[in-house]
Amino acid sequence: MTDPTGPTGAGHRPADLPERIQHYIDGELVDSLDGATFEVLDPVSNETYLHAAAGTQADVDRAVAAARRAFTEGPWPGMLPRERSRILHRVADIVESRDARLAELESFDSGLPITQALGQARRAAENFRFFADLVVAQADDTYKVPGRQVNYVNRKPIGVAGLITPWNTPFMLESWKLGPALATGNTVVLKPAEFTPLSASLWAGIFEEAGVPPGVFNLVNGLGEEAGDALVKHPDVPLISFTGESSTGQLIFANAAPHLKGLSMELGGKSPAVVFADADLDAAIDATIFGVFSLNGERCTAGSRILVQREVYDEFVERYAAQAQRVVVGHPHDERTEVGALVHPEHFDKVMGYIELGRSEGRLVAGGGRPEGFETGNFVAPTVFADVPRDARIFQEEIFGPVVAITPFDTEAEALELANGVRYGLAAYIWTNDLRRAHTFAQSVEAGMVWLNSNNVRDLRTPFGGVKASGLGHEGGYRSIDFYTDQQAVHITLGAAHHPTFGKQDPA
Ligand code: NAD
Repeated sequence: MTDPTGPTGAGHRPADLPERIQHYIDGELVDSLDGATFEVLDPVSNETYLHAAAGTQADVDRAVAAARRAFTEGPWPGMLPRERSRILHRVADIVESRDARLAELESFDSGLPITQALGQARRAAENFRFFADLVVAQADDTYKVPGRQVNYVNRKPIGVAGLITPWNTPFMLESWKLGPALATGNTVVLKPAEFTPLSASLWAGIFEEAGVPPGVFNLVNGLGEEAGDALVKHPDVPLISFTGESSTGQLIFANAAPHLKGLSMELGGKSPAVVFADADLDAAIDATIFGVFSLNGERCTAGSRILVQREVYDEFVERYAAQAQRVVVGHPHDERTEVGALVHPEHFDKVMGYIELGRSEGRLVAGGGRPEGFETGNFVAPTVFADVPRDARIFQEEIFGPVVAITPFDTEAEALELANGVRYGLAAYIWTNDLRRAHTFAQSVEAGMVWLNSNNVRDLRTPFGGVKASGLGHEGGYRSIDFYTDQQAVHITLGAAHHPTFGKQDPA
């Protein structure tokens, strides 16, 4: 680590930081056709450190045309799954071999603590390996039908997949879409988030080195309402995989409707962690602290509402607040840091706005704004509000920062009503030692994913996605493979066919 200056470490810069980044289209790094760029800020100093090419419809058209050509004329879609799999394992090897550099750049660009950014870089490699193996392991569906018939399912890549990704853990979330889209033989156009385009610019070199043919992977940087919008509306992009805010998801849904595109949407959350009085409180506190403050609280599955049964409520709040105050806020590049800098001043202002609001909606028991000694940069102290009522905006709305609302409940029925009483339905965390209650609660809670006495650990074969305003469809395991493929049913008759007899009766 180079010498950070001052408590926020402003002044630290990774070596060889680029000053500008381009699009990557048809195997070439290119500027926008109109030469436009946008500024990217370092979240610690909030100074512009990078100019990125700002794509418009013309650039998206160029990228889609290249991807379409690679799909119709190139070798990628027709390769055997194991041939593509070999190349994608090489992608994973390269990502692994550069994990420290990737983490350094991601941490600098997004404000994510370096140790957590390293974990995300490794997870990106794991995503590639997982989908590379899955397409090889996939058994073909073949059915014998009475009358000497056989039916089989022909899985075909769909074409050009449009991948639109957010700024939280950007590289990892890009890999979560790139892995299955490419493993199944599609070609892609990726539009990464404009707050954090740096790590995405590394994909071009990684794919080239791994042997992915030109045109298979294309990248267009730019703003959502320009480059993202053009991708969603492009007639030659039959499917869009989107991760981002629910309101953006609604817009994309409407814009994709005229083309009846395939859509997968991983959207916002306001997930409850429900702590019953019989729970292991030590474990519940550790996990719920991690659940909302890791990744700077900029985590879709954050357990940002904690519902605690009255008998243990006061003890929980007191211990939780004390532990939250010990969470280490620091320079993202410092290995001791647990909460770094929020991604962008706009997002910082949004989170600070919710904290101000929270002072009147709940009882502030920890944090409450900028931590001491951090006069600049997007630093926010882990903030805890207790006694938050159900109609409070800090209970209902996604804050996407290190801010948590704690609410008491008396009965299981009340806990369920509170848990389900928001528009979102991404994750739910349940803490109890009562097996019956754990499972009945899991059945009734409106959430795409439930963790019982556990934090965020999951197997990549399980479905990932939300209900209500948290998303549409599920990714993960074979669900991703299904999303990125057409499943054509082919029905064959073996031997003598049974001919229909319509029109063959003797006219009597
Ligand atoms: P966002 O919706 O602002 O942006 C996401 C992406 O969409 C960006 O690339 C952006 O440029 C693009 N975009 C914006 N407007 C667009 C438009 N009109 N047409 C096409 N593309 C457009 O989201 P964000 O602020 O980058 O990310 C944070 C959000 O993402 C949070 O709500 C979080 O919960 C959610 N998220 C969900 C998951 C999940 O798996 N459910 C995972 C991570 C993040």
